[in-house]
Amino acid sequence: MNIVEAVGKGVQLPLMEAFYTIQGEGRFTGYPAYFIRLGGCDVGCVWCDVKESWNSGKWPVLSIEKIVEDALAYPGRLVVITGGEPLMYDLGPLTALLKEKGFTTNIETSGAHPFSGDFDWVCFSPKKFKKPHPSIYKEADELKVVVFHQSDFDFAEDHASLVKSTCELRLQPEWSKAEKFTPEIIDFVKKRPKWKISLQTHKFMDIP
Ligand code: SF4
Repeated sequence: MNIVEAVGKGVQLPLMEAFYTIQGEGRFTGYPAYFIRLGGCDVGCVWCDVKESWNSGKWPVLSIEKIVEDALAYPGRLVVITGGEPLMYDLGPLTALLKEKGFTTNIETSGAHPFSGDFDWVCFSPKKFKKPHPSIYKEADELKVVVFHQSDFDFAEDHASLVKSTCELRLQPEWSKAEKFTPEIIDFVKKRPKWKISLQTHKFMDIP
């Protein structure tokens, strides 16, 4: 099997970086977690803080066995698969192996590609720059909308109407706009208590 076929089957994946840290955002804020950041993204958010992830060809392609072996070197057993846009790949084989080794699996995705993989927690963060694939709505355990523009409040409510009733709803100020939008988000959440606030606490802690 050549590399293109192996990536197509999800048994080898382009890995931008992997690191053990503290989850800074969303439902698992404060939990130690091993992050697997896959290379490649075609969403194109103007405020993206990992633009270097976009070109998958820049990153080494590793076997899923190697990716999981590296994760096992750390004591935590929570893995967060992120990107880039991780759903560009079939995540079935990687998540199956992670589960076999005893990991809890989380994903952070824009949902722009068909859903795949076996996840204990799906954090869906839709972006205006590329429409989500319909398969994400029934899978999302958490809807996390980044607020960068006034219209993002309506965008958030539009997506909240499409996810399942148990899905947790969070608004997160985009880091460079936090001063402007945090007061508005506080006001919004106080008026609509189905929503909660997510902050990028890893940036306050100055950790990845
Ligand atoms: S989906 Fe994520 S990685 Fe892709 S452009 Fe948007 S913020 Fe960046």
